[in-house]
Amino acid sequence: MTQSQYEPDDAWFPPEEPPADMYDEYEGGAISWADPFAVAASTSPVDRSARAPQHAGGLETLQTVYGFDSFRGDQADVVEHVISGGDAIVLMPTGGGKSVCYQIPALVREGTGLVVSPLIALMHDQVDAMRANGVAAAYLNSTQQPAERAEVERAYLAGELDLIYVAPERLSNSQTRALLAKGTLSVIAIDEAHCVSQWGHDFRPDYLALGDLGEAFPGVPRVALTATATRETHEEITERLHLDTARHFVASFDRPNIQYRIEAKNDARKQLLQFIRSLPDRSAGIVYALSRKSVEQTATFLAGQGIDAVPYHAGLPAETRMAHQSRFLREDGVVVVATIAFGMGIDKPDVRFVAHVDLPKSVEGYYQETGRAGRDGEPSIAWMAYGLGDVVQQRRMIQQGGGDRTLQMRQNQHLDAMLALCETVSCRRQNLLGYFGQQSEPCGNCDTCLEPPKTWDGLVAAQKLMSTIVRLERERGQSFGAGHLIDILRGKENERVRRFGHDKLATYGIGEDLSDQDWRSVIRQLLASGLLAPQGEYNTLGVTPASAGVLRGETPVLLRQDVIGRKVRSSVRKTSAADTLDEGDRDLFERLRAWRAGQAREQGVPAYIVFGDATLRALAEHRPATLDALDSISGIGQKKRDAYGDQVLEVVAAG
Ligand code: ADP
Ligand code: ZN
Repeated sequence: MTQSQYEPDDAWFPPEEPPADMYDEYEGGAISWADPFAVAASTSPVDRSARAPQHAGGLETLQTVYGFDSFRGDQADVVEHVISGGDAIVLMPTGGGKSVCYQIPALVREGTGLVVSPLIALMHDQVDAMRANGVAAAYLNSTQQPAERAEVERAYLAGELDLIYVAPERLSNSQTRALLAKGTLSVIAIDEAHCVSQWGHDFRPDYLALGDLGEAFPGVPRVALTATATRETHEEITERLHLDTARHFVASFDRPNIQYRIEAKNDARKQLLQFIRSLPDRSAGIVYALSRKSVEQTATFLAGQGIDAVPYHAGLPAETRMAHQSRFLREDGVVVVATIAFGMGIDKPDVRFVAHVDLPKSVEGYYQETGRAGRDGEPSIAWMAYGLGDVVQQRRMIQQGGGDRTLQMRQNQHLDAMLALCETVSCRRQNLLGYFGQQSEPCGNCDTCLEPPKTWDGLVAAQKLMSTIVRLERERGQSFGAGHLIDILRGKENERVRRFGHDKLATYGIGEDLSDQDWRSVIRQLLASGLLAPQGEYNTLGVTPASAGVLRGETPVLLRQDVIGRKVRSSVRKTSAADTLDEGDRDLFERLRAWRAGQAREQGVPAYIVFGDATLRALAEHRPATLDALDSISGIGQKKRDAYGDQVLEVVAAG
């Protein structure tokens, strides 16, 4: 193919069966998921010492169990509505605090809360986190031994559980239904509810079977929650889960602490390295690439440059993936290079950046992936490098992917929205939120707001290119890829140009005013806006019906001037909790962090399950001296005060 020799750095590798990657972490998927925390969680399937306070109200429960002062955003309204028996649909961004919305009603209402959750890893994490707060939580899934499962079932029937987590496929099974019917359910929560949407990007057929839960368990309030919902998905959730009388709680999807940056791809790996080096040392992050090969190569490259980077994809042995995930969760400053198989259900709150070196397939996917940055509300960055090869590859994958016309049309719509985001000359966040149906002002925290891009009139350039394409086709019946077309336009005298006699074309050399890179930018933008299209098995470029208007000079062509490798603003370099503390407090913060790491290691759980960064920061600032004083620190509930209070006071006092 003519392009390849000109695109050595686009990291353009055809993905090997990417759809398999998407599901391999799901229960029932191709790979049996072994979770790093399974052992810790399964040694005692039911922790009977831990019970929520009886007959407490919602706010009281928030304070005693979670150690938080007050509800955030819609939480109070959702909790009240569900406690009083109403159904709810909750759309909240990642990090918005969805769990509280169903966990507190489950604790306050009589019976056990049923949580439908698509990923085993997510279940384990949530159960661990709830138990750390003294809540009797357990799960039923395929990683368990029969005896362990039987113990959970017994505890459920005995009314000893506050929360029971179950995978959706288990709920289509009549045995599970019969079991649940014999006990008392307080609330039914359907997490990641967008998985029910066939329009969305994460469709899971098992979710369709959840539609009749209302009829199966009458009188039990249901809550559907998601962080990714366009208007279409929202409608599908309502309809397919039979939530017609539910109240809708739609929060702003904005994640103001995440800075969005998208730059033109020239040498993806070098740009990535430059980006990572512009961040504070040892910033934890996720780099997403489309193919396994690209994941491996990128991880090796970063590691060779001294970055603590590890690969993660479905083709690696389970133990390797487990080890890498576990390092990412438990250690500070690990970078995971991954396919989209990684990240769903990763609750790590202090991910400082998410980078994409290949173009995601949809805005929903992109927003979900970038949303894994900065759950703790601290400054974080979503960075992407995007190039001509990405557009060609994705258009081709859709064309050649089979599927009926409707499917192809949807995929193209998803891609078009993604491309519009990449090529926009206005605020990225406005574009993103607009995609989810929310209006906003320019954000001041994205690349186009911080460094407004220059635009230029690309009409003549587009005409030169298009007329070259049309001449080759009409006069010689030939078509070529981007690289060769650029050679013709720039009047290069290489072997290939001579062999085809293309130095005799009328358009030979008429594009010398632009560089190779400029031309690639022109072609990319024309492809993105549908003024050109890849065609045939070699991805040569062809004109489209819309090109005619450009050739006649009637369609304006406004192009974005690419900037490559722009330095990340220094304002975002303060990206850790420690940076906002003064020197003495920072010292204490680091000692608390070291103590936390020891605790986490001892218990075999990620550090954030012990305490989040925000809690450590509050401890370092307020330096509590008594157990009672710990109550005013956010994130320390009764159970954690009892478990860690004395040790924390010791660390503080030693300062
Ligand atoms: P989501 O599921 O919406 O991504 P989570 O439920 O995991 O969000 O909550 C995100 C973070 O916010 C967690 O660290 C959680 O402990 C914290 N959080 C949730 N509600 C509150 C609150 N009312 N006050 C303080 N912190 C909260
Ligand atoms: Zn902006």
